[in-house]
Amino acid sequence: MAKLKDYKTKRNFNETPEPKPKLSNRQASESIFVIQKHSASHLHYDLRLELNGVLKSWAIPKGPSLNPADKRLAIMVEDHPFDYRNFEGIIPKGNYGAGAVIIWDEGVYSAIGAKDKKESEKMISKGLEKGHLKLAFYGNKIKGEFALIKTHTSDKEDRAWLFIKKSDEFSSEDDVTSLNRSIRTKRSIEDVFSSET
Ligand code: MN
Repeated sequence: MAKLKDYKTKRNFNETPEPKPKLSNRQASESIFVIQKHSASHLHYDLRLELNGVLKSWAIPKGPSLNPADKRLAIMVEDHPFDYRNFEGIIPKGNYGAGAVIIWDEGVYSAIGAKDKKESEKMISKGLEKGHLKLAFYGNKIKGEFALIKTHTSDKEDRAWLFIKKSDEFSSEDDVTSLNRSIRTKRSIEDVFSSET
């Protein structure tokens, strides 16, 4: 399938340890999400949502916020393979996205109001077309309801979205990005750099 074509085109798999472009046919009752902290030429956080065998992906320069007053720019990027959820490490110099990656948060998510995974996927596919997603996250750092809303800016490719917390029992003015370690290995970006270079 052509779905992961952009992912494949941007990378040289003889050089990068990132997962190969492979579609997932995983059957599970819930959809997963992952947020990777990625220290590339510019530090950002990559929000990835499992949908139809791939991870729909957005790069969030400032990272997510639990404060409903914050509207965090989220730039839609190429679909990533499902296996990318497990990637933590170094993308070598000279490669696309060169730098360190940690698995900053992960968990399951769904469309708000969906009664099962099938309905959630349908609502998310529709929301992607419409440019408006209403999502509930069940992560370690990121919890509760969020909106992901497409904006119409000067960006010619129209990839700009906003990631906004809804007010609920999980909203907070504390800076969630001050929690700076991998949810899997407890390593910081700096730890990954020093251990693998
Ligand atoms: Mn990235």
